[in-house]
Amino acid sequence: MGEFELIDHIKQAFAGSFEGLGDAGIVGIGDDCAVLPQDSGYQSVVSTDMLVEGTHFLVDDIPAYQLGWKAAASNFSDIAAMGAQPVGSFLALALPKNVDEAWLQEFIRSYRDISVRYGFPLLGGDTTASKGGISICVTVVGKVRQGEAHLRSMARPGDFVCVTGTMGDSAAGLDIVLGRTRGVDCTNSDESRYLVDRHYMPTPRVEMGRCIASVPGVHAMMDISDGVASDLRHILKASGVGAEIDCSLLPLSSALRALYPDRATEFALCGGEDYELLFTASEDAVRELVHGCDIPGAGSDSASVPVTVIGRIKECVGDDVNIEYLNLPNGLDPMKLHGYDHFKK
Ligand code: ADP
Ligand code: MG
Repeated sequence: MGEFELIDHIKQAFAGSFEGLGDAGIVGIGDDCAVLPQDSGYQSVVSTDMLVEGTHFLVDDIPAYQLGWKAAASNFSDIAAMGAQPVGSFLALALPKNVDEAWLQEFIRSYRDISVRYGFPLLGGDTTASKGGISICVTVVGKVRQGEAHLRSMARPGDFVCVTGTMGDSAAGLDIVLGRTRGVDCTNSDESRYLVDRHYMPTPRVEMGRCIASVPGVHAMMDISDGVASDLRHILKASGVGAEIDCSLLPLSSALRALYPDRATEFALCGGEDYELLFTASEDAVRELVHGCDIPGAGSDSASVPVTVIGRIKECVGDDVNIEYLNLPNGLDPMKLHGYDHFKK
């Protein structure tokens, strides 16, 4: 496929998947720019993320379908983290000349499938040749009602610290994929398939994010991409507060507990790419969320992700961002808990 055939293939893959874009005033793939109407009373939220072969993925380790899913999921998750509604996405690809065509078709098929699932039409992108490996850059656009974006700076002392779903599954899935696990034969169990799936095909909490955001008393929110020990620090720093986390409250899947009884807490705190939501909320908001909430028109599984309280926001003591860990398992050093950092050796 040449550049224009590929663009055409992508355009065709999405044709018919999203009705009514034109009626809504949206112009997508095919012109110099996409045209997005500004709905009065709303703000746009935009995020972009790059995946580079050799840094974020190895072509031999991750199937094309899973890679397309993950590329989209990690970006849709950023929209979820603001409590925003989907508007669309842009996909920029740098591909080696000899890239396998079947691989490319699988990649586009999964990108289309997840886009349809979460309601993000593909509105444009770029396609170029690479002299090195594959690069994938996804840009996502969402919208929130004026002033209703949930920023990292919004946490208040006294808030409860909450997460959706379970934590640490993706890091365990990666451990299995890389064959690092020693002494546990888990490669072919239901548990290992579940964990690998959570690593390759994360579930962006798009509907859940809107549901959480709609509850009064929900304050700061972000998605967990580097592990809660690292990501919570961003909220604390931006909000000028501290926190206390009770490790006995971390929501762990039964698969993680079964296969990694000794490392589950470590994975939950420090493992990346869970793409669950981390937020802070008042007691009333937590009470409402724990009973579940519904937003009209959301997917049927929107309210089915449990919300778990894992700690409290406290006043900041001194200048340093501080997380106090309760019930930390023996052997884990609170000073050494951090998530993934690309520029740290
Ligand atoms: P230009 O040179 O004006 O940027 P391009 O030839 O790069 O135009 O792209 C033509 C159209 O195809 C544009 O609407 C662009 O957004 C879209 N497009 C290009 N590559 C992709 C891609 N990988 N995914 C989706 N849309 C794409
Ligand atoms: Mg171009």
